[in-house]
Amino acid sequence: MTGEVLTFLSEKKLELGPAGARIGNWRTGRDEAGILWLVLDKADTNTNTISEDVIRELDAHIRSAESDLPKALVIRSAKKTGFAAGADITSFEAMSGSGAAELLQQGHDVLDRIEALSCPTICIVHGPALGAGFELALACDYRIAVDGATFAFPEVQLGLHPGLGGTFRLPSLIDPTEAMTMMLTGKKAYTKRAKTLGIAELVVEERHVASAVCDVADGNVEKTRQGLKARALEFDQARSLVARTMRRETEKKAPKEHYPAPYALIDLWEEHGTDEKKMQVAEIRSFADLLKTDTSKNLRRVFFLRQSLKDAARGDDHIAHVHVIGAGAMGAEIATVCAIKSKQVTLSDLEINALGNAIKLAAKICKAKHLSDIESRDALDRLMPDPNGYGIAQADLIIEAAPERVDIKEEIYAGLKGKMKKDAILASNTSSLSIDLLATYAPLNSSFAGLHFFNPVSKIDVVEVIKGKATDSQTAKRLAAFCGTIGKLPAQVRDYPGFLVNRALTPYLMEAMVLMDEGVSKEVIDTAALRFGMPMGPVTLADQVGLDIGLHVAESLADNLDKPMAKISETLCRKVESGEVGKKSGKGFYDWSEGTPHPTFDGELPPNLTDRLILPMINACVEVLRKGIAESENQVDGTMIFATGWAPFRGGPMHYAHNRGISEIISRLKELEAAHGPRFAPDVGWNTIG
Ligand code: NAD
Repeated sequence: MTGEVLTFLSEKKLELGPAGARIGNWRTGRDEAGILWLVLDKADTNTNTISEDVIRELDAHIRSAESDLPKALVIRSAKKTGFAAGADITSFEAMSGSGAAELLQQGHDVLDRIEALSCPTICIVHGPALGAGFELALACDYRIAVDGATFAFPEVQLGLHPGLGGTFRLPSLIDPTEAMTMMLTGKKAYTKRAKTLGIAELVVEERHVASAVCDVADGNVEKTRQGLKARALEFDQARSLVARTMRRETEKKAPKEHYPAPYALIDLWEEHGTDEKKMQVAEIRSFADLLKTDTSKNLRRVFFLRQSLKDAARGDDHIAHVHVIGAGAMGAEIATVCAIKSKQVTLSDLEINALGNAIKLAAKICKAKHLSDIESRDALDRLMPDPNGYGIAQADLIIEAAPERVDIKEEIYAGLKGKMKKDAILASNTSSLSIDLLATYAPLNSSFAGLHFFNPVSKIDVVEVIKGKATDSQTAKRLAAFCGTIGKLPAQVRDYPGFLVNRALTPYLMEAMVLMDEGVSKEVIDTAALRFGMPMGPVTLADQVGLDIGLHVAESLADNLDKPMAKISETLCRKVESGEVGKKSGKGFYDWSEGTPHPTFDGELPPNLTDRLILPMINACVEVLRKGIAESENQVDGTMIFATGWAPFRGGPMHYAHNRGISEIISRLKELEAAHGPRFAPDVGWNTIG
């Protein structure tokens, strides 16, 4: 895009200086028609963010536009990665002390002046316009979306709401309830939807941008108009009614106690509605307050945890062709994700039906990911069913996703001997077998490792990259880089029963079964976890994973760990024997025939219940850290959050332990050990934490 945009600008004969020079973070110039172009090209990065210096420089450009009014003002990005990814989150830490309101006010002043310019102002958006980037676009009179543009306010994911005018500019542009939904959920509006909603006046291909700008500048394009609903919501009573529903809906997904930001946003809207000036003052105050909350601090921490997992994924993977063995629940999705991310993929299975189903699933995933028709076609073209395994000889990476049995995997690896390319890697998606054991069957153990994707692969970002004793560091590095190229976050860990995630998760799931055996209802157990902040309770999760898989992992851990585990629940064994294995069979502990169950319980939870579920999980995290299975507390926190949805607003299990107090956790574990047995014994690693 940079090339394309710059060529476009030089064709427009902008006075850009030598080679379209960038001054600060902007490239600027006026074209022959007198249109002023402000092209954001933030220095030293490939992604634009709306930082303090970007705003300061924009201020100067707007001032010069005010003194020498252009025919129109156009704002766009020179980056291939899109318009702008939002505010610079690294600056939030400093802002959360004091001075936030002042800084926000400065940003507001600049955007207000763009809005007040008497010439048409146009924002061209390609790729994402997020958060403050979206707010900058909203300050313009018109938005032209280039095919593939997306608009979103992801601030809620940081425990915030929009802070640069989004809270009043979006509801005054489109249907206010749609605007509120976007801000409350962080959901993206893709190009077509953005047009339907009225966010973008025009959707064009890049090659038509210049003429679209002329059309707008010449006054030939009508501005978005709001519908009747917006007028109805100008009345306080109507807004209060809608606000009440919004609060009720939000409470289901993000309880106020844990996530204050959406409620602050609803309050703003209910109170000030269409009074933009009052809303602006209130938005600034509210944003500055939210910055200081623990929730926002922890969610910002989560943002940086993601960045640090991403950092481990840098480098070249030298993997163009991936061959996947086994087109079942995991293999089909792994193959699809690779094909979507431009890998050449071959997929083999003993069952032709499995291959057919995999292709159907791939088409569904492309749709769910909002790929354009051309992108979907290209992804499906790259995904080749390969029942005879011809791809093995071409592949740079072979991912084995065959059933979880050593004998099956051994036989598959035997069949690969002498067929793989010299530098090719073989990786197993096993969730419970030892990588060191499987390595003994691999054609070359130094280029063998674990690559543990989570189910559903297309939705869960983390992949555990498991380095066995024989795995060479080049192989581990290439696999981590491979994760990056397919949009995943690698958690580089060592071989251990359950690796990191299943090691930590299993005691939580098993304790839930023990509690049920003791007579505590599944609804009460799940509610305890939900109130703690888990995305779903352990009983629902066990059903979702599959009780057969859960039982298998638990048995394997019990056999291979030198730590006492909860006794395997008889009810669980009975369920598996009877074939009621959870979601996939329609029934497990819950009935799934009518969709995902929503356990409800309004009463008071029995004492100790939450700690019995949560603390063993953290105890296991400490164990994997002590044993050097995981690299750091931050890695554990990030991996648990992105693999399991572990209460993000608490900043991760280790962060939670520190906040609550290490000595307090140790003494709680000792009390639980005395009451319920040695599975609660605090790990000796606690002594070195902190
Ligand atoms: P699955 O039973 O759904 O699929 C396995 C596929 O492999 C089947 O289609 C089967 O026909 C095929 N197969 C069997 N023998 C084969 C052979 N010799 N050559 C080629 N294909 C063969 O299993 P799954 O759930 O996709 O699990 C696959 C692997 O992924 C296992 O190691 C499992 O532990 C692991 N895993 C599973 C999950 C999960 O939730 N299902 C999560 C993480 C990891």
